[in-house]
Amino acid sequence: MYCPCALKRYFNHYSYATLEEFILIEYKLPELPYSYDALEPYIDEKTLRLHHDKHHQGYVNGLNSTLKSLKVSREKGDHSDIRKLKRNLAFHGSGVVLHNLYWEGLCPEKESKEPESGAFLEQVKTDFGTLIAFKKEMSEATKAVEGSGWGVLAWEPLGKRLIVFQAENHQNLTIWGVIPIFVIDAWEHAYYLKYQNRRADYVDNVWNIVNWREIENKFNTVK
Ligand code: MN
Repeated sequence: MYCPCALKRYFNHYSYATLEEFILIEYKLPELPYSYDALEPYIDEKTLRLHHDKHHQGYVNGLNSTLKSLKVSREKGDHSDIRKLKRNLAFHGSGVVLHNLYWEGLCPEKESKEPESGAFLEQVKTDFGTLIAFKKEMSEATKAVEGSGWGVLAWEPLGKRLIVFQAENHQNLTIWGVIPIFVIDAWEHAYYLKYQNRRADYVDNVWNIVNWREIENKFNTVK
């Protein structure tokens, strides 16, 4: 489901030499898959230049510098800035991923053709009824985002369905597209009966009961 080849297809326009190089060295601003005036008159050239060259570049720069700061913290063993750095990681990382998706999801008007058949359309019909109904729901969701944010069409792999939702801002302390391989539940219901308000004690104790073999399995599946 999440093999690297699928991820390469996911960001299909961008000419990373390899996905590994893209991840290991540093994030780069991808070139647009069309010219700056290609979306006229619906999105003007000036907006596209500003949005891509300044805003998207800003997320790329922010993500790279945050990763460098995290490396320094890790090396010093000093995580006193962890909340700020993890917020920045989520903010810039999500900005990078979502803008990649945004550019790839658009094209010049003459190339924009609604699907008349195929697996995607069939799934849309299953989950939304019709393509028109999907477009309406996606439009309304996007228009109604409170403050800054995104309208999102996503595949939900547990239920195997397409869903539309709103992302307020865009970070919410994660980077879109990441694949979780291990989690620690920090909701009170996970520890309150035994630990009451001592969440830190619970977290420290979790490390005594981790299934490292399963984490390795999941890592080997997704890397
Ligand atoms: Mn933007």
